[in-house]
Amino acid sequence: MDFKARQQKLRDHLATTRFDALLVSHLPNVRYLCGFTGSAGLLLVEETGSIFFTDVRYDTQAHEEVKAAKIVIARKSPLAALGEFLEKRRKRSRRQTIGIESEHFTIADKKRLSKFRWAAVRLKDAPPIVERFRMVKDEGEIDLIRSAVQLGAKIYDRALEVLRPGIKEVDVAAEMELAARRGGAESMSFETIIASGPRSALPHGRASATPISRSAFVVCDFGVILSGYCSDETRTVWVGTPSDDGRQAYEAVREAQQAAIDAVKPGVTTGEVDAAARKALRKSGFGKYFTHSTGHGVGLEIHENPRVAEGQKEILQPGMVITIEPGVYFPGKWGIRIEDMVVVNAGGGEVLTPTSKEFLAV
Ligand code: ZN
Ligand code: ZN
Repeated sequence: MDFKARQQKLRDHLATTRFDALLVSHLPNVRYLCGFTGSAGLLLVEETGSIFFTDVRYDTQAHEEVKAAKIVIARKSPLAALGEFLEKRRKRSRRQTIGIESEHFTIADKKRLSKFRWAAVRLKDAPPIVERFRMVKDEGEIDLIRSAVQLGAKIYDRALEVLRPGIKEVDVAAEMELAARRGGAESMSFETIIASGPRSALPHGRASATPISRSAFVVCDFGVILSGYCSDETRTVWVGTPSDDGRQAYEAVREAQQAAIDAVKPGVTTGEVDAAARKALRKSGFGKYFTHSTGHGVGLEIHENPRVAEGQKEILQPGMVITIEPGVYFPGKWGIRIEDMVVVNAGGGEVLTPTSKEFLAV
């Protein structure tokens, strides 16, 4: 990862704004810009250089990981160290406007920082600048995402080995999570969803102690984190002898998902991709059962920009990685969702998820 180039891009951007510097506090953004993977750190990106603040627990790790920034090890908190740092040089610096990541920097943090007296510094809310950079992945990132998606898909094979009527949802999740760990995952990208029978009608039915029921769908939504990057996949499988209406609804979701994938290409808005899925489901009579958005960006975080939702104007660019995950939900009965990860290439969308989407009964 070329952290120096990423920081330079940020600097070039800041030069076009009213900000002289950006205080990066959102940890995925910190990681993106300087490589630090720990849980406490702040990166101040200024015109002439960057300073990274962390506490003593991360002394060794910071020196191993952090690139393209001077490292300051705080005696107390990174925030206090930043305050002292700014205080020390207040006399020599001209008036400086530092942007803070207003979606992540808390009011309490702001209060703590304002205890330090540095007349020459003004803190101002900044828009999500680094998040916008992160939307478009470079080749190195896409390679890491490919590996995460491959491992994610493997743990679904494990789910299919153990899925049968009577096994608890949480036991299926446990088998998948063990397979993820054994395969090298750092952790899951979110709490594994195994939702069977009527629970499959809950778009976010976390695995519970409920036994898998016969003659119903099971929605499996899962992901792993590998080298910092997330995977996200959903498959829906029928347990027992399939019903005709189950099969029919499944095919409708599969067609809608394919329609959205086919709509992916540079220059198209994410709202148009969402509309393609919605249109297909309306055509098959299931439109009103599709109750959530079509997808989201994925990368260092499980939910990133761009949002793939109704009316969104974000334009797809090569290097963006999004999910396509339409679903239909019949409350009290069952639900179906199919989710792939897709990278936007010059010629269109490339599906990264290798798992078959054929109707499957176990
Ligand atoms: Zn998912
Ligand atoms: Zn998702």
